[in-house]
Amino acid sequence: MRAIDIHTHLELNLPGVPPNRFRKKPPRLFMHFNELLKFRSIIWKNGNYPELVRMLISLDNQVRLSMASRDNLLREMDSSGVSVSVTMPIEPYVKSKDYLNEIADEPRLLTFASAHPDDKYWQNNLKEAMNSGCRGVKIHPILQELHPENEFYFQLLEEFRQYGRPVLTHSGEFEYFIPQSRYREYGGVFLMKKLISSFPDVPFILGHMGLYDAEGALKLAAGHENVYLETSFQSAATIKRALNTVGKDRVVFGSDWPESRQHVSFKIARMATRTQPHLQEKILWENAESLIGPVQWESIS
Ligand SMILES: [Zn+2]
Repeated sequence: MRAIDIHTHLELNLPGVPPNRFRKKPPRLFMHFNELLKFRSIIWKNGNYPELVRMLISLDNQVRLSMASRDNLLREMDSSGVSVSVTMPIEPYVKSKDYLNEIADEPRLLTFASAHPDDKYWQNNLKEAMNSGCRGVKIHPILQELHPENEFYFQLLEEFRQYGRPVLTHSGEFEYFIPQSRYREYGGVFLMKKLISSFPDVPFILGHMGLYDAEGALKLAAGHENVYLETSFQSAATIKRALNTVGKDRVVFGSDWPESRQHVSFKIARMATRTQPHLQEKILWENAESLIGPVQWESIS
């Protein structure tokens, strides 16, 4: 079985727990527990935790991010059986160029580009990144500290639309840092609406399908043909509901590795489509490939 994981990360260098190339496994904390339950528990879906639990989740998340090396990703892919992972840089923390260097000579890894207004040469750098083979652009309003209606994202998409490639945006309110930051609410699903409707020719992939607000993501996707839903952190039942709502062409498999284990997300995506092999092929491969362009399967298998 061939599969593209549309949403993974390499080192992000966020403030907090530093990268640790020796770490091979994520901690057995709250996320591990949710993975065992395949994101079915009400506690997980609710997303409204007491502050102490919330802090532990942010810490858990940071420790996971610290193990996002290329070697660990390839090892994870070997054990999960995923053929190709698409990696997501987030500027200003890491540059598109850094990810292009990391994936060089590895046909199993592809990358998106990223851009941030702190880089005054962002237009040129974006052009160079896209011409060097990036398959789309990642935006992350929370971590980039830019409201989804910030003028910059409109300028970015004005530059980017010519490539005919997708945007993958984080979606869903989430706190990345142990002391609370001010930007959690920038993940709100409906804040993306203006950007999405201003660029109907650009496909938008909603990372995590809204996270704790899958209902909102499904609603947004139902109203906009250019919205796609990525499966990470969602249960098989929610993925099925997404397929019923938006049809077979607009759901794509993603794990957000290392923030969730790839083999867990992969298993959930297969469970959701178990009885329909054609549908499985759509969400594991075809839908992603139709967005990011041809993927050389022969050279990989
Ligand atoms: Zn991401």
